Amino acid sequence: MLEESSRVKILVAEDDPVTRLLLKTHLTHWGHEVVLCSDGAEAWDVLQQDDCPKLAILDWMMPKKDGLQICTELRNSGKEPYVYVVFLTSKSGKENVVQGLEAGADDYIIKPFDYNELRTRIRAGARIVRLQDDLIAALKASEFQASHDALTHLWNRSAIFQILQRELTRSSREGTPVSVIMADLDHFKRINDEYGHLMGDAVLKEVAQRFVSSMRPYDSCGRYGGEEFLVVIPGSNREMALQIAERLRSSFAEKPIITPEDTIVITISLGVATAEQEEKRNMDLLIRNADEALYRAKNLGRNRVES
Ligand code: GH3
Ligand code: MG
Ligand code: MG
Ligand code: MG
Repeated sequence: MLEESSRVKILVAEDDPVTRLLLKTHLTHWGHEVVLCSDGAEAWDVLQQDDCPKLAILDWMMPKKDGLQICTELRNSGKEPYVYVVFLTSKSGKENVVQGLEAGADDYIIKPFDYNELRTRIRAGARIVRLQDDLIAALKASEFQASHDALTHLWNRSAIFQILQRELTRSSREGTPVSVIMADLDHFKRINDEYGHLMGDAVLKEVAQRFVSSMRPYDSCGRYGGEEFLVVIPGSNREMALQIAERLRSSFAEKPIITPEDTIVITISLGVATAEQEEKRNMDLLIRNADEALYRAKNLGRNRVES
């Protein structure tokens, strides 16, 4: 049996039932997952799916669509992630091998195949597939890091600005409103002073969680500053945004945060601003208005919503 990481999902496109069964038996025995197709059209359909196998063993001569055609069209489509293609065919001439590889195949095995050769060649293909998987995962992780805040995993400042700008552009096109809520924790310095910075961080994480869980799927929340959060609410007018802000406010005031050390009541102050008319659809203006409303909420005693 293979190590978990060396196992791959393999597409086998082969019209001959005996060869098909033999391949399935071997590949399964070597630990791989096998998707069987008995003609080219079926194989092509499988390759169009989002989570299709990333390693394909293609027979050349098959009804409906031959292996060469599949490979050529696959490469022309620029499909990503990359599918590693192995031809397994009785076309044994040098010119066939060249033609197959030129069509974009990664490997070429001539029938009747040798058990050990097939196994090692598939293993080589699986290594490439795994390298690609690792690369994609690393890319995703770095994209996440570039757009998210490390402590809270909310959108970071530049990402939430981008989201807001995108929503403003869309709202302008569709003639719909966009609201933002700027929220700042009340007297947060005291939490740090009383419980230490690490506990302060833990509280911030929990606060972020509460923001996320109280939002709709198309709302976005970012960490604007240290303990300041910016919520973007597409399609909402001033009244709706005020309601959401009030719900957020009370969700903190009425439900203390429980930590191993203590039960801590956190309150937040919130400023709401809405862009409804065309002249208001300006990001700087909207942020400034929300900031000023937040400032008023602080001055009027905190734990409140202003707009
Ligand atoms: P106010 O009600 O006026 O907002 O009072 P405040 O104490 O919250 O004052 P202010 O917003 O000016 O200060 C924010 C404090 O939040 C300062 C800093 O100690 C703390 N803070 C900011 N970022 C972090 C962080 O990442 N971790 C922790 N633990 N504390 C932070
Ligand atoms: Mg055939
Ligand atoms: Mg504060
Ligand atoms: Mg602050």
